[in-house]
Order: sequence, then structure tokens, then C-alpha cells
Amino acid sequence: MTNISNHEVKEIVYSLGADLCGVACLERFDNAPKGFHPLDVLPSCKSVISFAVRFPVGALKCETPVPYTRIRNSLTPKMDAIALDLCIELEKRGIVSVPVPTNESLWDEKTNRWRSIVSQKHAAQAAGIGRIGRHSLLITKQFGSMVWLGSVLCEAEIEPDEMIEDICNHCNRCVQVCPVNALEKEELNQSACWDNAFGDDEVTKTWVISCHKCRDICPYNLGTDNKLI
Ligand code: SF4
Ligand code: SF4
Repeated sequence: MTNISNHEVKEIVYSLGADLCGVACLERFDNAPKGFHPLDVLPSCKSVISFAVRFPVGALKCETPVPYTRIRNSLTPKMDAIALDLCIELEKRGIVSVPVPTNESLWDEKTNRWRSIVSQKHAAQAAGIGRIGRHSLLITKQFGSMVWLGSVLCEAEIEPDEMIEDICNHCNRCVQVCPVNALEKEELNQSACWDNAFGDDEVTKTWVISCHKCRDICPYNLGTDNKLI
């Protein structure tokens, strides 16, 4: 099996346009739900490469949900393109790899919720990019929760990055601000959140993301490298 260093992987990922990158070993996915472990997708998987792209924070200042929605809709194909190009670069080096789709989910009938084939947030946490906060979003040191995530599963055994310590301070502000109490329990009430946050605007008849209150209120939503707000 051809191998590749952690440094070389990051050089490729940054050259493709990502802002953050990390590598996780499979031991860090022991708690993944059945059917949604990296080995359930690629049985020969040895490492998970996770990456993040910053989400322009100006969207948080807008009176309309349109810019936030457009950024999210534009970031999705960007993350998928980075994942695809990374797979091609790895294959050129003799390493089999597959992309995890950024926003496509499968229905998990065991837990009645939609899931990515491998959780992007858990992969990013396992790869040392950030930590999942009480609001169930990933918080990074550099860009807070203003990031979008992508990942690739591969057969190469790559030296993993260290995981980072918790960032969330459990202030509960995100729990209190949620208009539909979707964060009341430890696990996000996905249907309550999605019913409230996503859908057609009644007036403009356009699909928008109309709620990100839990993201906005978090004291760690911007990180050290977002200086514009
Ligand atoms: S996005 Fe809105 S509805 Fe969903 S958990 Fe956050 S505050 Fe609640
Ligand atoms: S608002 Fe407070 S509890 Fe919620 S994620 Fe941020 S730091 Fe954690």
C-alpha cells in the first residue's frame, strides 16, 4: 500500500482551497451509529481526512436570509469538489479514497433521523479541527462555527492529528434562544430544528434557511481569524 504523510495531505487540501484540515484514525469513530461508521462505507478505510472552509460572516449581519442561504448553497458544491479532487490526487499516488457527500443524508430508521454516511462534524472533531458544542455545531478555534465541512475516507494509514480540547463553555445560551426547544435534550431534535429553520418563505415563496439563532448567540461563533465583524 502506498503511503502519504500528514503534511503532504494538508498541502494538497490547502492547495484545493480548504482553510483547515486534519486527519483522524479509525479508533476515534468507535461511537459512530451502526451503518454510519467509515468502515460501513469503505471496508478498507484506514484514515479519515477532514477539512473546513470558512463561511463569510457578513451573512450574520443581514436582514434577509438570502445571503446566508446562498453561501450555504454555494459552499456545498465547493466542499464536494474539494473532496472529489482530493480523491483524484490521492489515487494518482496509488491511494484508494472516497468522498463523503457534504449535504446528502440517508434516513436512519433506527434513530428516526437523517444522517450523513459518516458524520462530518464527528470526523472534523476526530481530526482535531474543532469540537462539537452544545448547539451540535462544530466550533473551531480559528473561525468559530462559521465553517462548512467536508471529508474523504482513504486506505492509507496517515499519522493522525491531535484532537483539541472542548471550546464550548456550556453557558446554555444556544439552548435558551432556540424558538422550538430543539436543543432541550443532549441530542438535537432534528425534525423540530429543520421544520423551523428550512423551507419556503411564505411571502417570497423561496427556499431559505431562516434560523441560525443558536449559531449567532454562541460566544465562540467567530473564532480568532474572523476579524470583520
Ligand atoms: S437553527 Fe434555530 S431551530 Fe435549529 S437548533 Fe438552532 S436555534 Fe433551534
Ligand atoms: S452558546 Fe454556550 S452552550 Fe451553546 S455552544 Fe456556545 S458556548 Fe456552548
